[in-house]
Parts: sequence; C-alpha cells; structure tokens
Amino acid sequence: MTYRVFWADSIADEVVERYGKGEVVVKCAASPSGGKHIGNINDILRGYFISESLKSLGVKTRHVHTSDDRDPLRKIPERMPDREGRWKVLSEKELKELGKYVGIPYVHVPDPFGCCKSWAEHFNNVWLEGVEALGVHVEDYSNDALYAAGKFEPPMRTILSDIPLAREVISRFQMNTPADYIPFNPICENCGRITAKATGVNLDDWTVDYVCESKSLAGEFEVPGCGHQGTTSLNNGKLPWRFEWPSQWQIFDVKMEPFGKDHYEGSWPSGQEISKVILKRQPPVYTVYEFFLINGAKMSTRHGNVFITQDMLDIMEPETFLYFYSLNPMKQKNLDVKNINFIVDAFDRFERIYYDEVETPDPEEKELAKRVYPMLPIDHRKVRIPYTFAAMVSVSKNDEHIIRTLKKTGHLPQDATKQQEQDALTRVYKAGTWARRYGPEEYNIEIKEKLEVPADMDAAEKDALSELASYIEAKHTEEETQYEIFEMAKRRGVKPGKLFKTAYTLLLGKPRGPKLGPFLLALDADFVAKRLRLEA
Ligand SMILES: [Zn+2]
Ligand SMILES: [Zn+2]
Repeated sequence: MTYRVFWADSIADEVVERYGKGEVVVKCAASPSGGKHIGNINDILRGYFISESLKSLGVKTRHVHTSDDRDPLRKIPERMPDREGRWKVLSEKELKELGKYVGIPYVHVPDPFGCCKSWAEHFNNVWLEGVEALGVHVEDYSNDALYAAGKFEPPMRTILSDIPLAREVISRFQMNTPADYIPFNPICENCGRITAKATGVNLDDWTVDYVCESKSLAGEFEVPGCGHQGTTSLNNGKLPWRFEWPSQWQIFDVKMEPFGKDHYEGSWPSGQEISKVILKRQPPVYTVYEFFLINGAKMSTRHGNVFITQDMLDIMEPETFLYFYSLNPMKQKNLDVKNINFIVDAFDRFERIYYDEVETPDPEEKELAKRVYPMLPIDHRKVRIPYTFAAMVSVSKNDEHIIRTLKKTGHLPQDATKQQEQDALTRVYKAGTWARRYGPEEYNIEIKEKLEVPADMDAAEKDALSELASYIEAKHTEEETQYEIFEMAKRRGVKPGKLFKTAYTLLLGKPRGPKLGPFLLALDADFVAKRLRLEA
C-alpha cells in the first residue's frame, strides 16, 4: 500500500482496497450515560477524518452514529452537564432519587434536568450539540427506535435460531458462559429493568420467557431483580453488547468503524467472530485509537478531570479542537489543560504552514498541513491573536480597549474589518476563560479597579514608573519594553525585582503576574500610563 503522511488516508486506502468505491458507512456510537468526555469523541472525530479522506477519493460516505440508549443506567454520575453544557453537581438527595433507575434503559429514565423526553435524549443532545458545534455532522439513530422498528429482527433471528452456536462462539471469549445462556436481555415487564434472564425463546411467536434475577452490569454494578417471571415480545429487550455491535454492522452495512483500545481488547475479537461465524458477514475495516490522558491522568470523575466538548469550546475555537484529533491516533497524548496554549500555538503554526507563511524544515509537516487543513470546517481566514497574549489582553474586559490595544501592538491591522475584530475578540475571550479557569497562576489575574499606592513605594520607583508610562505611550516591542524596565530601575539604583513587584501590585493588587513587558503592552495604553503615574 502507498505510504501516506496522513493516517486517515491510509485507512481510506484500506477501505477502498477491500470494498471498492461504492458507498461507505462509517459508524460510531455512544451510550448516553451522562456527560460524554472528550476521549469518547475520538470515535466520531477519527471517523470524520476517515470520511473526509474517503470523499477525496471519490467515495460517497455516510457517517452513522448510534445512541446506544437501550443500555441500562449503571451508575449515576456525581456531576452532569445541562443542555448548555454547564456542569451541575448533584446533591446526595438527587443522587439517591436517581438511584432507583439503575438497571432501567436510559431511554426510560427521566431527564434529570427535565428539558428533554428522557435521560437518553438529554445526554445524547448535549453530546451531539457539542459535535455539531465543531462543524461535524452525523446521521444519528436511536438504538431503542431501531429495536422498536424491528430493524434488529433479521440479525436477531439468525443469532437466536442457533443458540448452541451463539453459546459456543461467545464462550471462546467470555469465561464461565452458563450452559443455559441465551444471548438476549429482556426488559422485565414488572420492574422495567434489563435484569431479566431469558429462559427460552419462541421465534415463531417472537417471544421470550424470562425470570427477573439480580444481575451484575458490566461486571461491576449489582442490580437487584424483582423475581417476576413472564413471557414478553422479543422487541422488548436487547441483544447483549457483544452481539448487538456486530448486528449493527449488518443493519447499516458498516464498512468502517474506529474504536478505542477498550473495545479492541474486549468486544472486538468476539464481535468479529460473531459477525463471521454467525451472521456470515465480514467485519468492517477498523482502526484503534489510544485514549489520551488529561493533565497526565486518565479521565475520570474521581480525578475531577472530565471535560466535554462544550468545556473545550469555551477555551478554543472549534477548528483548533478538531485539529488535535487529526494527530496520529496511535500515539498516546496528554491533553494538559493548564498548558493548552501549546496546542493552540501548534494549531496556529499548522495553519501558517498551510498558508506558506512559515518555513518548516520537515517536508512531511508541510505535506500534512496541506492535506489536513482543508478538511477543517473553517469558512474564512481568521486573525489569530497569540494565545497567551490574548489571555493577557482579556483582562481589559472592554471590547473597545481590547481592539485599540491589538491595533497598537500590530496584532490587528489598523483598517481591520468587523469580522477580523470579531475573530480577534473571540480568541481573546476564549484565552481569558482558559486563564481564569485553568491557566497557570501568573495568568489567573484581574485588573485592580481602584488605585492603591503600595506603602513601601519610594520616590525613585515612582520616578521610574512615570518614565515607564511615557515609554509605553510610544510604540515599542515586547522585548524592548521588558529590557527597558530593567534599565530604568538600574539607572535609579532601584532593585529591578522591587520595581516589578510594585508595578504588579499597582496593576493587579498582587506581587506577581505575567511577564511584565508584554503584559503592559497587552493592557489599554491610557489605563497603564495613568496607573503608573498614580493618576487613576
Ligand atoms: Zn434535557
Ligand atoms: Zn423485574
């Protein structure tokens, strides 16, 4: 196979080699268990790039997403996002109240926020609204609706018509498969939980006999059964995940599916086998991605480092976030939110490489930028204010002052269009949110509203700051300004450290802050001059 610089192109080649150039369904899925974190979104975004690669080869694609909403509620997350993507921490009482729904399909659990038809719909909405905000569109299907519409019937008939075979295949992967195992999980008509154990099926009547027993979900959560025995329709329940997944491949004729390492080691080996041996269908081309670490740790509520797309879009533009997922999926990455500026800077550079504005010694880097950048949904070239500078500028909190500062520092052209101003402000606000929410301490700053002269400030310092005020009013670079502050201190026999401390205290009310030279330039010049002259 031809070597490709972009990983998604290699996968697209593989798909075309196997299936030719007919329509390709790229599938992804999510279980609406709560706020779906940005590790989960790999499924969709990896699929997005593969889909784009296929399109460029002239292949028609459909990007199908299933909400696995007939899955049972397993665990109540301690915090969950509302429809706007804002996190809410649940009280003990709320947790307890929701606890009674454990074992019930997400689609039958009420929306904890009361704004959607169900728990499933709420979290699927939040999830896909995040995806939409990235400019990525998927065809969304509710698994529950697919079952209700009988879409699962053909694979179910095949699987359930030879239960001994199903049992034999699954026992190769699942230790201790019971001798009476039936690959179907009915929903108990008495308690509504997927705790019922199938004891017999009748394909002619399309029914299943069951007894509602206590059951361990995902091998972890013990859910009590109600003891009810009955017979119900085979539409009232679901295939176990290991059978459901290959059945979805059949229903949608899936030819490509990206998934994470967890599935690769778990349900993928059995899914392939079930697809080949039972459903007589070749499993799709696949790709596995590494989950990435957040702040050096696995994402978990316990670590308090769960982020959803909406969180990330508060601090970066959609294309920047998407760019992160175009990077090699096989390398484990660490998304360090505190130092997110490095990713934004890398994106800005990547964009400039695409536009031939920076030279790179690495020809592959250039080829990659030329290939991937056009896949990002960007409708116009945006002004990119360097991220940490934008974070500093944001403390002004006044659009007019911010624009004036950006023009003075050359970050915006004098004749900037409204669009350019808007793009610049967007970056400034996002960087500001980052600085205050996650940034390193020196960026987590607020301007001191009222002038308060530090008690230990002496005449020499006062004189130096006054000179600095005049210096700022003229046009100088960040480096020149930084250098000059040292010189002004030295000329008066003031310790530079003391002068810096006094300047920070005057501006921020605390003795430290971002590098002073660039910071002074990032603030509104009139304000800085007045404050340094102790006038306001
Ligand atoms: Zn809702
Ligand atoms: Zn029951």
